[in-house]
Amino acid sequence: MVKNLDQFDNLVEAFGKIPGVGKKSAIKYAYYIALQDPFFGLNLAHTIENSIHNLKHCVICGGISQNEICDICANDSRDSSLICVVESPKDILTIEDSHSFDGLYFVFSDIQSVEKLKDMIIKFSSKELIFAFSPSINSDGIMLYIEDQLKDININFTKIAQGIPTGVSLENVDMLSLTKAIKDRKEL
Ligand SMILES: [Zn+2]
Repeated sequence: MVKNLDQFDNLVEAFGKIPGVGKKSAIKYAYYIALQDPFFGLNLAHTIENSIHNLKHCVICGGISQNEICDICANDSRDSSLICVVESPKDILTIEDSHSFDGLYFVFSDIQSVEKLKDMIIKFSSKELIFAFSPSINSDGIMLYIEDQLKDININFTKIAQGIPTGVSLENVDMLSLTKAIKDRKEL
C-alpha cells in the first residue's frame, strides 16, 4: 500500500468485496471512477444509493421489485397457472431475458419459504410448479422437500429438462438451452 492513499485504498477494498472482483480489477475500478471518469463515478454512487433505497423483494414471489408486489405478480396477463421455482431472484431476470416463459415465479430462498409458496399457489390457483434449479444433489433434496410439504395441494410438479449442466447456475446457461429446457420440462 502506498502511503497517504487511505481514500484510494478504501475504495479498492470496497470494490474487492464485490463477489467475483479480484484485487487487480478493484484497483482498475477505483482508479476509473475516482480519477479517470469522476463524473461517471458520482453518477454511479447516486445510482447505487437510489437502488438501495428503492429496490426490495416482492412480498409474494421474492423477486426484485420497486414496489411491494413486483410487475410480474401484478400482471394479469401472465399465466398464473404456472409457477417457476428458482433459486435466486437473478434467475428470474435470466428466464425473462429468454422470453420462454410467461407464468409467475417464486424464489425459494430457505425452507421457511415453503409457506409463502403455499400461499402463492392458493392465491393464484396455480396448477403446475416448474422447478428451474441448477442440477445438484442439494437441489434434488429441495425439490423432494417442497413436493412433500405441498402433497395436500392439488398441483403438478415438473422440472426443467436436462441439458443444464450440473453445478452451472442459470445465469451462465445460454438462452437457447434455457428456452429448450423450459419447453421440454418433465414430470417429477
Ligand atoms: Zn412478485
